[in-house]
Amino acid sequence: MNRVFNFSAGPAVLPLEVLQQAAEEMCDWQGTGMSVMEMSHRGPQFISIYERAVADLRKLLSIPDDYEVLFLQGGATAQNALVPMNLLRGLTTADYVNTGAWSSKSIREAGKYCQVKVAASSEAQGFTCIPDVADWQLDPKAAYVHICSNETIGGVEYHFVPDTGDVPLVADMSSNILSRPIDVSRFGLIYAGAQKNIGPAGVTIIIVRKDLLEHAMPSTPSVFNYQLQAEKDSMLNTPSSYGIYIAGLVFQWIDRQGGLAAMETRNREKAAILYDYLDRGEFFSSPVAISDRSLMNVPFRLRDESLNQQFLDGAQERDMLQLKGHRSVGGMRASIYNAMPRAGVEALAAYMADFEQQHG
Ligand SMILES: *Cc1c(COP(=O)(O)O)cnc(C)c1O
Repeated sequence: MNRVFNFSAGPAVLPLEVLQQAAEEMCDWQGTGMSVMEMSHRGPQFISIYERAVADLRKLLSIPDDYEVLFLQGGATAQNALVPMNLLRGLTTADYVNTGAWSSKSIREAGKYCQVKVAASSEAQGFTCIPDVADWQLDPKAAYVHICSNETIGGVEYHFVPDTGDVPLVADMSSNILSRPIDVSRFGLIYAGAQKNIGPAGVTIIIVRKDLLEHAMPSTPSVFNYQLQAEKDSMLNTPSSYGIYIAGLVFQWIDRQGGLAAMETRNREKAAILYDYLDRGEFFSSPVAISDRSLMNVPFRLRDESLNQQFLDGAQERDMLQLKGHRSVGGMRASIYNAMPRAGVEALAAYMADFEQQHG
């Protein structure tokens, strides 16, 4: 078997153990003679897979009982519309904090449904930091405050939970959910597409405080009405059943690693290997403010950008793939989610040192 170190931002690397278990169970899930893909989503086998996935996610994140957990479809992008449709609750404005490409997209989409107020923005800083909370212009009458907890493209991450008082905090956690423990009770709603840190593209996780439901706009499509989906255990229609199964295997894998506290320790160590190297010399650099650097997505630049292609080619020869930065920001980006082994990060740092020695 040939496995590479896949630094893709998403869809991203999954734990090898999970892929192997899925391969073993592909044609005959636990003696049923069926693949999970072929099962009725209303049958007892799939219901057991679904219930275990929800229970394991609740346990990993210590999700309080007054929160619903939903497995929907449409990706995080659908949520950019569904959050206002479900959470405006008759109010007319929502506050958004703009920290980069993904918050900007959320802002543009939400503007179709409500008056968006940009409470703070780091655009003037080239989206290289989280705006100082002391300067946020929060409106106490806003329906919610929206943040993107980790900007996958810019590599900017919140290392704190902002205090929004009585106004519910909504977070797009697509690219850092399950990377460390969080206090769910500080949020009104958390959403995340699966393909970064959870499983296959197609599943979208919603964690929402129950008292925020029941007020969706009447025009909200039923499959995207959080309350209706909560009443039906996310099975108002056929869910992304195979995706939920793989997500469930990933939850079990995280638990075997020691849970989210252990993931955080590993993720901090992995990120430190790269950031320490980036900060050591002038050949490579990180554009992001030190206090706001992402543990999941590490953008970096070569001082001499004419060497970019050579750097990528050399990486590929060493089986390190998908290191090219997003086209909107250029440079390089190493995405080092939960499933990226420490060995992959060490191999990258060693390659960077070699490359610097050759070309520096
Ligand atoms: C990947 C990503 C998205 C978009 O996810 P889709 O599943 O393609 O809709 C949104 N927000 C963040 C932070 C992401 O990383």
